[in-house]
Amino acid sequence: MASKITSFLFKDVTGANESNRVSYIVRINSLMMCVYFLIWISVFGIGARYLNAGICFVGMSAYAFSTYLTYKNKNTAALMLYTAVTVLWMFRFVIQWGWECGIQHFVFVLLVLVYVGTYRSFKEKILASIVVFAIRMVLYLWHINHEPFEVLSRPISVTFQIINIVSIFLSLIVILTIFSRDKLETEAKLAQYNRQLKAVAEHDHLTGLLNRQSGMADTVEKIMNGSFSTGMSIAIGDIDFFKKINDTLGHDAGDQVLKSLSRLFKEFMQQYGIAIRWGGEEFLFVFEDMNLDDAFVALDGLRLKISTLEIPWNGQRISVTMTFGVTDINVMTSSSDRERDIEKRINEAISEADQKLYLGKQSGRNKVVI
Ligand code: GH3
Ligand code: MG
Ligand code: MG
Repeated sequence: MASKITSFLFKDVTGANESNRVSYIVRINSLMMCVYFLIWISVFGIGARYLNAGICFVGMSAYAFSTYLTYKNKNTAALMLYTAVTVLWMFRFVIQWGWECGIQHFVFVLLVLVYVGTYRSFKEKILASIVVFAIRMVLYLWHINHEPFEVLSRPISVTFQIINIVSIFLSLIVILTIFSRDKLETEAKLAQYNRQLKAVAEHDHLTGLLNRQSGMADTVEKIMNGSFSTGMSIAIGDIDFFKKINDTLGHDAGDQVLKSLSRLFKEFMQQYGIAIRWGGEEFLFVFEDMNLDDAFVALDGLRLKISTLEIPWNGQRISVTMTFGVTDINVMTSSSDRERDIEKRINEAISEADQKLYLGKQSGRNKVVI
């Protein structure tokens, strides 16, 4: 039963990615006003004041129609109808029974609705606020210049006040609850989109490895923050005769090789540091807190793993080898511009590793040159 009511109240009419706040706020408020008028119909009915009961019935029907409009995605029309009936009702009450009935406080519900129940521009909202303010002033000026048609007895005036105060508070609580919940959800969605965007921007989309820019930034940051007592080693690896795979088996087969190798790199480098897709079929390996000798041993182990790897492709198995050049970086720096100095050292180390890689290619491939 409760879930049926919830799904009826929060029936989505504006599509998956949009906020439905306006629909919900206008819908639930219109429904609440239907209940509010039902109370008045009962009060007037019991007091045999059938004209007033009839007017309330017309008001209730208008709010019911406003609720219906929110299910047809006509939120602006629904809100305008809601506002018009509420304003007419306030005038009717103040003229008939005076200030004592407390109806004039409904202007605050309208004021809050202007801001959280519409997607209008700031200028339009200010303009609407001025109109609401004017309504309230006119009501007050009417009150101080005219006697009400009927003077309420004390118990009736107290009943009027209580019904109105409860209704106004409930309306405001509903509006602000939906608004704050919607705002929190939107903020959570934004934070999630930001995380996704950041991940997309930092990673190479084919292999899922860090790309050149984020890999470099990550390495510089780690050297800046970390205390690598043992130092740091860097290696560049290049797939041997990779063009031949593309030429003989096709570009998709080449892509598959890049993906399979990257999975292996990611897993292998977990214990040592990071693997970066440097570009094309070249990869950069950062061995954090590892001297050159240890990095060489680890890298030679990776080279062996690669040479025994069999990558399935269309019923065949592709085998590849890789050649690496490895060097170390002195991470101790006393320069005043540490960041620039560290970047310079990394770049120097990379070109040194690149030269060694070239030597490895020249002298037969499938090796690590130290
Ligand atoms: P070597 O042993 O001297 O490194 O020979 P190689 O054939 O590997 O080197 P070469 O530089 O001649 O060829 C590299 C090829 O890698 C050329 C390029 O088309 C291919 N390549 C670069 N990026 C990608 C990619 O993302 N996917 C695929 N399938 N191929 C790529
Ligand atoms: Mg290459
Ligand atoms: Mg190559």
